[in-house]
Amino acid sequence: MCHSDIHQVRAEWAGTLYPCVPGHEIVGRVSAVGAHVTSHKVGDLVGVGCIVDSCRRCDDCSDGLENYCDHMVGTYNGPTPDAPGHTLGGYSQQIVVHERYVLRISHPEEQLAAVAPLLCAGITTYSPLKHWNVGPGHKVGVVGIGGLGHMGIKLAAAMGAHVVAFTTSESKREAAKALGAHEVVVSRNADEMAAHAKSLDFVLNTVAMPHDLDAFLALLKRDGTMTLVGAPATPHPSPEVFSLIMKRRSLAGSMIGGIPETQEMLDFCAEHGIVADIEMIRADEINEAYERMLKGEVKYRFVIDTASLAA
Ligand code: NAP
Ligand code: ZN
Ligand code: ZN
Repeated sequence: MCHSDIHQVRAEWAGTLYPCVPGHEIVGRVSAVGAHVTSHKVGDLVGVGCIVDSCRRCDDCSDGLENYCDHMVGTYNGPTPDAPGHTLGGYSQQIVVHERYVLRISHPEEQLAAVAPLLCAGITTYSPLKHWNVGPGHKVGVVGIGGLGHMGIKLAAAMGAHVVAFTTSESKREAAKALGAHEVVVSRNADEMAAHAKSLDFVLNTVAMPHDLDAFLALLKRDGTMTLVGAPATPHPSPEVFSLIMKRRSLAGSMIGGIPETQEMLDFCAEHGIVADIEMIRADEINEAYERMLKGEVKYRFVIDTASLAA
């Protein structure tokens, strides 16, 4: 369950189509394939992420960046000729997807549930970390330790960066270290924030609510970049231009990742033994889980056991 599911279900973003079945972190086993399918076979462990179709012809698709295709079809709430006219997502026991948008999973089967969140939280953090060349010698901030943020910490640490986690929750101070953060800052504490002023190369901001971006831009050193992946329903109150022109800083955005990079991320995670930290729930606990996510009470991703949908 991604925070985007909440934004969409509750029509916090424009354009929710009902009935809405969210879910774009999907794992399972192939139960049937079409006659012309060559990349997957019945019985394979596979994943489906945020994208189930795109034009397959434009420059973005040709570059494997289907996530930026103007005709990208989201796994839910996307246009489709099938009834009811829009796609229905992964809170379901089955889904039919073109082979191009189906990912191979090579983690051990017993980790399958904890692999699911990689399909959105994993790729959404992996892609900007790669694009902005995060690696050894870099000091990287990850802001907001939820589903995306906890993956951001694990991935940035695995890429060799020095990772500083920024949280509003005192209770996550030790937990963030256990995820691989080298330092943890409770962002409500001005002194702790000031200790990192002008020192970070890159900041990955995953926060789902509008907040003061200037406080984090001030932590970037010259030519540093803060990339926003959190997608609040209403605008941030900042930035102040001087936060950017001083030190030639950049403020950027990034959306999920393309299919080849999603496969690369899954393989990277399998190789490095990386999965999400999850709490499994039944389908009848979804509403309660949303409330707990909004209170920041999940460490760090809920996964629905879709077998419980049959109950
Ligand atoms: P999440 O699990 O709810 O985590 C969000 C975290 O943000 C919280 O755990 C909390 O961390 C922090 N936070 C919440 N309210 C805050 C506030 N008022 N001030 C400061 N920090 C606050 O959500 P998620 O699933 O990781 O998703 C995060 C955002 O990314 C959502 O807006 C989602 O729609 C978006 N998203 C974007 C993409 C993309 O492609 N760009 C993909 C997936 C999701 P602390 O307790 O540590 O402060
Ligand atoms: Zn998502
Ligand atoms: Zn395209």
